[in-house]
This record gives sequence, C-alpha cells and structure tokens, in this order.
Amino acid sequence: MAMKESVSIVIPIYNEEESIPELYKALKPVMESTDRPYELVFIDDGSTDATMEKLNELGKKDDTVVVVSFRRNFGQTAAMAAGFKYATGDVVITMDADLQNDPEDIPMLLEKIKDCDVVSGWRKDRQDAALSRKLPSFIANRLISWVTGVKLHDYGCTLKAYRKDVVKNIRLYGEMHRFIPALASWVGAKIIEVPTRHHARRWGQSKYGISRTIRVVLDLITVKFLQSFSTRPIHAFGPAGLLLGFFGFLFGAILSYEKIILGHDIGGRPLLLLSVLLIILGFQLIILGLLGEMLARIYHESQDKPVFYVKSITKGGKATEGETP
Ligand code: UDP
Ligand code: MG
Repeated sequence: MAMKESVSIVIPIYNEEESIPELYKALKPVMESTDRPYELVFIDDGSTDATMEKLNELGKKDDTVVVVSFRRNFGQTAAMAAGFKYATGDVVITMDADLQNDPEDIPMLLEKIKDCDVVSGWRKDRQDAALSRKLPSFIANRLISWVTGVKLHDYGCTLKAYRKDVVKNIRLYGEMHRFIPALASWVGAKIIEVPTRHHARRWGQSKYGISRTIRVVLDLITVKFLQSFSTRPIHAFGPAGLLLGFFGFLFGAILSYEKIILGHDIGGRPLLLLSVLLIILGFQLIILGLLGEMLARIYHESQDKPVFYVKSITKGGKATEGETP
C-alpha cells in the first residue's frame, strides 16, 4: 500500500494570544481524525503580546508543533513564505490563526487535493464588515480574475491546500500570497475552488483595513507584468515607444515642411512642443525596453530560472523525469 501523504498546516500569527489555545483545541482532533502524518507549523510574525509563550507551551507538550519565530513583524506573506520553507508535508494547508477559517474544512480540502494541485477556499458567506472589507475585496477579486485569467471568487481566503512542489517553487513578495493560485496556474497547475466556512473574529482585531486593497492592486500589476513580459520586456514598452516616436517624427516632418518649403514661422506652434515630447518619450520607452531585456537576462540566467516548465521527459517511451505519460 502506498504511504499516506503527510500534511503540514501553515499558520501565520501576529498578536493572537487569545486565539491560539482555541485554535489548537479545534485543530488537533481534526488532524488526528485524518489518519495521516501531520505537523502544525506556527509562524510567529514578531508578535508583541503573549503569542510566543502560548506557542512554546504547545510546542513543549506536542511533537507535531513546529514554531518559527520572526525577529520582527515582516507581514503575513513573509510568514507564509517561512512556513512553506520549513514545512515538510506532501500537502501544505494554510489558514489564519484567528479561527475565522474553520479547521473542520481540512478533511474536505485533503479529499479534493487528491486530483489537483491547488484547492482554494471561497468564503462564500464571509463574516466581515460589508463596506470596508467585503466590497473592496469583491472588486479586487473581479479585477484579479480578469487580469490573471484565473477565475476564482475569493483570492484573499487564506484557507487553501497546495501540493508540496507548488509552494516550494514559488517566491513571495509584498502581498503576493493571494496570487499563488495564479502563479501556479501559469506554470500549469490545476486549481479548484471550494466554498468554505467563515466566522466572525472573536478575539483581537483585524490587522488590515482598506489600504490593503491598494497594495493588492499594485501587486497585481507587478504579477501581470512579470507573467506577460518578464522574458520579453521590449514587447511591453516597445510598441508604445515606436508609436509615440512615429507621431513625433510625423509632426516634426509636417512642421519642417511648413518651415522650409512654405517659409512659415513655426516658433509659436504647440505642435512643435508635442513633436519634441513624443520623440523623446518614444526613445525613452525603447531604451527602457532594452534595459528590461538586459535585466530579464540577468534575472533568468543568474538564478537559472527556466523560461518553460517541463511536465515529463521520456526516452524510448520511458519517463526519465516527472510523470509517466
Ligand atoms: N498576520 C500575520 N502578520 C501580519 C498580519 C497578520 O501573520 O503582519 C496573520 C494574523 O495573525 C492572522 C492572519 O495573518 O492569522 C490574517 O490576518 P487578519 O485576521 O488580521 O486578516 P483578515 O482576516 O481581517 O483579512
Ligand atoms: Mg482574520
């Protein structure tokens, strides 16, 4: 019989002292019931309350508890990245520490991930403030779906399950953890979305407000740009550069004709200013694209980053790497 797949639960925590004992109490029986090897990876993101004491208490009495402690607050995304680094399970599940996600959903996630690479939770009945949280989040989700082409209702839900190789191969910056499904999908992973439970926060308070939406939108621009143009930045800047440059030269030619052939005075013509502006902008965009091309080469070559992702390689019909076809 095949070995049972192991599970790592990754939980970023910032000042959640009241929630931790409750979370542990709810999580432990669920994990026991899955009948698989598991570990609970708690990442203390520089908490200033009694979070660390609570976590150490758990660690002392329970061998499945792993505690990663940050020197200061680096943010939820960094905490998740640390969790991914130290997790050893075949399946990695992320969730919030504040019990807004329900550990009871874990068995269902484990069931679903059997035939895909990412299972993404959807807080269908979300228990947060409508105007300051749900509305901006609704708009952000629509925008992300549209821009990334990966259709999910709820990118922001932390409760998600991943196959190990998905999280081990992704680097996270900024608020990027919500884009993991999109990043994974772009390299060929199979994603499904399932409705999950959601509860109102009982202790402490949310660490975020509306300002996060703005940061998420900026991250979206970065992610989209990297996806579309990281191997060909001149294709992003070049067309605009050529277009602007073309019109710049065109207007310049018209004015030159008027000046040289017709002998008109062109000193006071606004078109002259526009023409010069367009020519300079056009040049600069092309140069920006070329600089990007150089950066792209440095980026890919220095880190040995592939420009493609291989599913399997066969020799004489036999798989030498990856899946058997
Ligand atoms: N969190 C974190 N570092 C931070 C902010 C939050 O590790 O800088 C954790 C927090 O403790 C919680 C999760 O990230 O476990 C989600 O945060 P929160 O509940 O405040 O977000 P919301 O549910 O309101 O979107
Ligand atoms: Mg929360």
